[in-house]
Amino acid sequence: MIIAKTVPELRLAIKQSTFRSLGFVPTMGALHEGHISLIQHAAQENDLVVVSIFINPKQFGPHEDYYKYPRDLDNDLEILKNSGAHILFLPEDDVIYQSGDEVEIRLPQISSILCGKFRPGHFDGVALVLTKLFNIVAPNKAYFGQKDYQQTILIKKMVDYLFWNLEIIVCPTIRDEDGLAKSSRNRYLSNEDRKSALSLYTALCLAREKSKTCKDVEQLVREAKAYIASVPNVVLEYFEIRRAKDLKSINFLKEEAVALGAVYVNGTRLIDNILLTES
Ligand code: AMP
Repeated sequence: MIIAKTVPELRLAIKQSTFRSLGFVPTMGALHEGHISLIQHAAQENDLVVVSIFINPKQFGPHEDYYKYPRDLDNDLEILKNSGAHILFLPEDDVIYQSGDEVEIRLPQISSILCGKFRPGHFDGVALVLTKLFNIVAPNKAYFGQKDYQQTILIKKMVDYLFWNLEIIVCPTIRDEDGLAKSSRNRYLSNEDRKSALSLYTALCLAREKSKTCKDVEQLVREAKAYIASVPNVVLEYFEIRRAKDLKSINFLKEEAVALGAVYVNGTRLIDNILLTES
């Protein structure tokens, strides 16, 4: 695997590869099975796979965990060696953000709701870094996890509005055996915390189960929230059910819908979601 740290290095590595299709997997490192599944999907569908590891400062709020976000490059390199990735793009901050750079990419309708309501500026940071990364890597396909559902909608809209010649592939959420979605932030959790953290997934499953007979969104949300409130050491940030294709508010389940939530467990913020039609 080639490691490129600058844009010219990356472009040269891509230029020197023969390929018909380039698959791109952007990550923030501290890689786990969720990331690996994206890389494997990319390797199945493309003959060149580029993975990036970049902890994007612009998507963290001033009081968020940018400085303590897990960094584990040695382990990441070990994982990547056997994953199907051909090129790792590993830029420093000043490769992505040059001094004087004031570019903004904003999709206010998506970035101000759900997670965006509680993390102002987060999705602007995501949209900006992906714009830059897509322009640097020029992939044919880019791979994202359903785990970050709102992010996938943001990216699909952005690619559509900006006429990018790029296919966005959303891969299923990879979970631990108990159902907890794999996340780089899970390493902050103690065994006790993990049990509390599972309340979100249990509430999502409850909503999905209930949605087979009850179509009233308010009632489904109320019951899911009541369940989370009954579990110790969990602080609910939000739990909502929205239209799956664009995250618009709905009162009744008619079209495909998604339940999404965010909780804090012992200071660690966790998100998860489930399509209400998922089996
Ligand atoms: P991150 O490193 O957290 O920015 O995530 C990089 C990519 O991996 C994003 O597209 C995430 O949605 C995806 N991802 C993270 N966790 C999971 C998971 N448990 N299952 C599938 N994809 C995931």
